[in-house]
Amino acid sequence: MSEQRTALVTGANRGIGLEVCRQLAAAGYRVVLAARDRAKGEAAADTLRRAGDVTAAVLDVTDAAGIRALAADLERRRIHIDVLVNNAAVLVGESRAVLATTADELRTTFETNLFGVVAVSAAFVPGMVARRYGRVVNVSSKAGQLASMGTYAPAYSMSKSALNAFTVQLAAETRGRGVLVNSACPGWVRTGMGGRGAPRSVEEGADTIVWLATLPASGPTGGFFSDRRVIDW
Ligand code: NAP
Repeated sequence: MSEQRTALVTGANRGIGLEVCRQLAAAGYRVVLAARDRAKGEAAADTLRRAGDVTAAVLDVTDAAGIRALAADLERRRIHIDVLVNNAAVLVGESRAVLATTADELRTTFETNLFGVVAVSAAFVPGMVARRYGRVVNVSSKAGQLASMGTYAPAYSMSKSALNAFTVQLAAETRGRGVLVNSACPGWVRTGMGGRGAPRSVEEGADTIVWLATLPASGPTGGFFSDRRVIDW
């Protein structure tokens, strides 16, 4: 990298988000590790000090005032976000049938997995467009693939389909303006969400996300990727 880029990763105090921070810091990025709990975010950032330039920030993606406060604080410190990894998500009502899914479960899921992503993007993507450089990675899931969708985790799966639609919309809006926007599926990964029986490590899960976060100008936009390959919506 000729110029040091700054990456903001949401929901980064544990799991895949934390590993994405580690890999980006190791690649020379300045990393803003965002977590909704200040103490957990700082403790997580402490574990990465040796990996590179990592600072913790408080961000609950469902809190509009908190998003504005973080954007204003970074602006004051002249920290421009070049890379946004929308990683924070919740998995609610996993084993429920679609018609038994409650409105509250849908609301909770969509608040974080879609509305939060749109709100955080709205705070940081305009700056990327103005500077004509940006990479946005929406951490999605094959659970959201319409091409193969079954009955698994209805609220979560529908939220990830909607997230993918947001990827397509934002990519179309920013096309040709230096900003590349893509969705990534990390695979089934051993985290709080994925459980201990998952076949993939966080390192493997973070790989495609970091690849998309660090794309060259000639890279793709508006795609859905797993293992660095395009997959069906
Ligand atoms: P995880 O271990 O459950 O971690 C989720 C992270 O999101 C935590 O840091 C959590 O914070 C944070 N978070 C939740 N709600 C938030 C909010 N409102 N504001 C800010 N942060 C919030 O999950 P993971 O497995 O690392 O998942 C990361 C991403 O990969 C998600 O988008 C997930 O859908 C996707 N994914 C995971 C798998 C898998 O097998 N693990 C498969 C496909 C896709 P707290 O610690 O405060 O709860």
